Amino acid sequence: MKTHIFMGLAAFGMALVLVYAACNNHTHDWVWTIDAVAATCTSSSKDTAVCSECGAVTDKAGSVAALGHTDGAAATCTTAQTCMVCSEILAAALGHEYDWVVTNDTSYPAISTGTCSRDGHTETRGTAIGDKGPGGGKIFYVGTFTMTDNSSTAHYLEAAPSNQGTGIRWATATASPYATVSTDANATVIGSGRRNTALIIAGDPYSTYNHAALLCKNYINNGKNDWFLPSFDELSEIYNNLVNGKPDHGYEMGTGTASSYWSSSQYSVDTARYRQFSSGAVSSGHKYQSQPVRAIRAF
Ligand SMILES: [Zn+2]
Ligand SMILES: [Zn+2]
Ligand SMILES: [Zn+2]
Repeated sequence: MKTHIFMGLAAFGMALVLVYAACNNHTHDWVWTIDAVAATCTSSSKDTAVCSECGAVTDKAGSVAALGHTDGAAATCTTAQTCMVCSEILAAALGHEYDWVVTNDTSYPAISTGTCSRDGHTETRGTAIGDKGPGGGKIFYVGTFTMTDNSSTAHYLEAAPSNQGTGIRWATATASPYATVSTDANATVIGSGRRNTALIIAGDPYSTYNHAALLCKNYINNGKNDWFLPSFDELSEIYNNLVNGKPDHGYEMGTGTASSYWSSSQYSVDTARYRQFSSGAVSSGHKYQSQPVRAIRAF
């Protein structure tokens, strides 16, 4: 019995050796079909072959190079550019590029409308920092705060689109308002700039010099005439939200040598607070110093 099993295994082994030899003891005799697989956008054509003895298959690059994609219509805001042959996406949809403008400043939240600069598509959403304000300036603060002059509630601060001056005194040494006279404009909180501005002007209503507060009070843009010199905290929000770390260094307020902006917050009898917009430094200086001024308004 054991002998039979042994002989059976031996025969089986021999058979395996013979099969192995049949498959490996020849050089394949390939029968080629040229360009059997057509070229596509991204791959060349292929020649394929079958071995006439054992049926093995192989292939290699054929004679036609990859065709390259055929560009479909250029990408738009909402549609990608695709290959007209294989539909592969060649350029993603661009997305809309909105310029946001406040279009309803009487509701809360205020409403801004975005118009796409490429295709004119419009969309609305709540007003946000960076939007163009009703006065043609830029929104730099969104919150809920009390205007200290009339106790009204406001939610937005907007900064004028340009400086009201770059070499402006808070008060002067030689003409009214005098730089050594104290005012009641000491508040720094958000919501206090309009009251500060009124207090500075009321302190010397016969000003013979167009000082920082007066320039802002007299500024008119986009039909809005309720501008004022920002309190120190209001001024700081311009720095925080439009200037600090922003790619264009912000609304042209942090560039050049004239970048120490006056606030309407008096610091002492003869000094007022300002902020250095190129460095962010907080400081105060004599009221007779000449510095840039940027008006703001609230709504
Ligand atoms: Zn073969
Ligand atoms: Zn293609
Ligand atoms: Zn668009």
